[in-house]
Amino acid sequence: MNKYLLISFLILVSMFGQNGEAGAQKMNYKQLRHKMVKEQIAARGINDKNVIKAMQKVERHLFVPSQFRHLAYSDSPLPIGFGQTISQPYIVGIMTQLLDINPDSKVLEIGTGSGYQAAILGELCKEVYSIEIVEGLALKAKSTIESLNYDNLHLKWGDGYMGWEEHAPYDAIIVTCSPSKIPQPLIDQLGENGNLVIPIGAKNVKSLVLLKKIDGELVRKDVIPVRFVPMIDEKGREY
Ligand code: SAH
Repeated sequence: MNKYLLISFLILVSMFGQNGEAGAQKMNYKQLRHKMVKEQIAARGINDKNVIKAMQKVERHLFVPSQFRHLAYSDSPLPIGFGQTISQPYIVGIMTQLLDINPDSKVLEIGTGSGYQAAILGELCKEVYSIEIVEGLALKAKSTIESLNYDNLHLKWGDGYMGWEEHAPYDAIIVTCSPSKIPQPLIDQLGENGNLVIPIGAKNVKSLVLLKKIDGELVRKDVIPVRFVPMIDEKGREY
């Protein structure tokens, strides 16, 4: 009898122990995330309060493979499989701020990857349409996003070079892979006064560019030099 009591007691203790550990881990992630946002995002010139809030809220560690979770709140890109990476948080912050979106905006993203950037956008605007060319990543992002109950994120597997005509025009378009030139379909699908944020340029000389459509014309501003994975077509050829 005593033996059974002791075993039940040990089982209970180990259960509480695990919950405690999970709770502590979660707490730790939250602290790490807030620290990252404060030191790497806000301190480096990202001052849009809504962008800061969204980055404090979205749990980046849920978008990276479990073996890299402990690195989720360092300010660096991380592998997400299929040779692709989740962008560095600072780059997510600056690109999101440049989009200049609000709760009524409809946004198109090219390069869903892990779905992290899409989730940030989902916090800030009305509808997000996001396209990913690698099927495995598109499926994984879909299940991550579904588990987080975002109902304003619409994901599609396909070639984002063509944009997503059906829902155009967009108030803003963000491209998280890099073509050598701006895809014409994206220019066409950008609404008047809309912002297109895109890394463009030849292989190792890429510039993060903000293009604003004013009276049907694009006004270009080069923001910072960046490194990005290339935009590819269905056969893996670089655009
Ligand atoms: N925004 C992502 C980062 C993705 S990295 C995140 O938050 O995790 C860039 C992504 O663009 C990669 O997943 C890559 O597969 C994808 N990509 C490359 N060319 C593409 C294309 N033509 N259409 C759609 N996605 C593309």
